Amino acid sequence: MTAIDIPEHSLFGLANLPYGVFSTPGAAPRVGVRVGESVVDLAVALGDEVFARPSLNPFMAQGYDRWVRVRRQITELVSGDLPDAAVHPVAEVTMHLPIDVADYVDFYASEHHAANLGRLFRPNAEPLMPNWKHLPVGYHGRSGTVVVSGTDIVRPCGQRKAPEDAAPTFGPCRRLDIEAELGFIVGTGSELGTPVPVADFASRVFGVVLVNDWSARDIQSWEYVPLGPFLGKSFATSISAWVVPLLALAEARVPTPPQDPEPLPYLRESEPWGLDIDLAVSWNGQVVSRPPYREMYWSPAQMLAHLTINGAATRTGDLYASGTVSGPEKHQRGALIELTWGGTQPIRLGAEPRTFLEDGDHITITATAPGPNATRIALGDVSARILPAPQWTAAG
Ligand code: CA
Repeated sequence: MTAIDIPEHSLFGLANLPYGVFSTPGAAPRVGVRVGESVVDLAVALGDEVFARPSLNPFMAQGYDRWVRVRRQITELVSGDLPDAAVHPVAEVTMHLPIDVADYVDFYASEHHAANLGRLFRPNAEPLMPNWKHLPVGYHGRSGTVVVSGTDIVRPCGQRKAPEDAAPTFGPCRRLDIEAELGFIVGTGSELGTPVPVADFASRVFGVVLVNDWSARDIQSWEYVPLGPFLGKSFATSISAWVVPLLALAEARVPTPPQDPEPLPYLRESEPWGLDIDLAVSWNGQVVSRPPYREMYWSPAQMLAHLTINGAATRTGDLYASGTVSGPEKHQRGALIELTWGGTQPIRLGAEPRTFLEDGDHITITATAPGPNATRIALGDVSARILPAPQWTAAG
């Protein structure tokens, strides 16, 4: 038997207990929970086959009461002795995509980000579009290209046309960017024709991941009118391997910033679901931004209510992301296009001035949130390296 030793001040203590899908050499991927520097194999520890699957979906589909019960069981289990076969050092396991991603939606919920992009893309107009403070703006993305942290990102190719170019050209993206976001995972879906009220958020949404919504700005700026993001986004979206249960984020809840004008009734919250989560973006090991999630204008409960108000169904494994998290200060911007103001104000990486991502670059997004008794808990980080565009593009 093994007793798990949780280091003092661990960001993965008993108040966190994130879920993921892991494998060890020669064994199939299955569900585990992270405790300190260990991964607990839940199929072995709890003797329940729902955890012997390569995805969290079957467990998530069992619903809120079951999530609460299992979390309580795990807390008791890991405080005592566990069978040796149930415990693995986190450094010795391979992590996999934690969920079967059903549908994927990306919102645009930071007023600072939306206003900055408005100023960059439409310099002679109002920064925010007239709808922005009335509804959480979003678009449907591509669930099949959501990848787990650690997966290399291949530079995409496509059509790009700068304003001064006479015609578009084809080739590797020249303005490859990041977007630091949170992602919310639907645990129990909703029927077609049945909107999910804001008050049902906590019983529907299982947990939270960190998201990097990779963005090819040159492809995006040429293609996006009038239907919105398409190939400039759909080549890859990275998520963290660990899913922090919403149940672990009780201490992080804060009101959203004041919403003026008052939203329509279906978007009004009686209990606040803003989240006081601090993100950090590292570019080749250097922290270049610290975006504060508490500044987000729309809450994730409002996003889910809006996403379903037309009667759209949701399913176990749906992922909806918040949109780039940007605060009011320059060092709080969650995308390079904002940090470098459209590439006109380079960042110093070490001694080198840089604007967008180059091949071989490495991006890691981390985040922490308040836990009980002045402790902190971590979200799983989301990390990836940029690989060169495929060679066939030379013939493009
Ligand atoms: Ca985005």
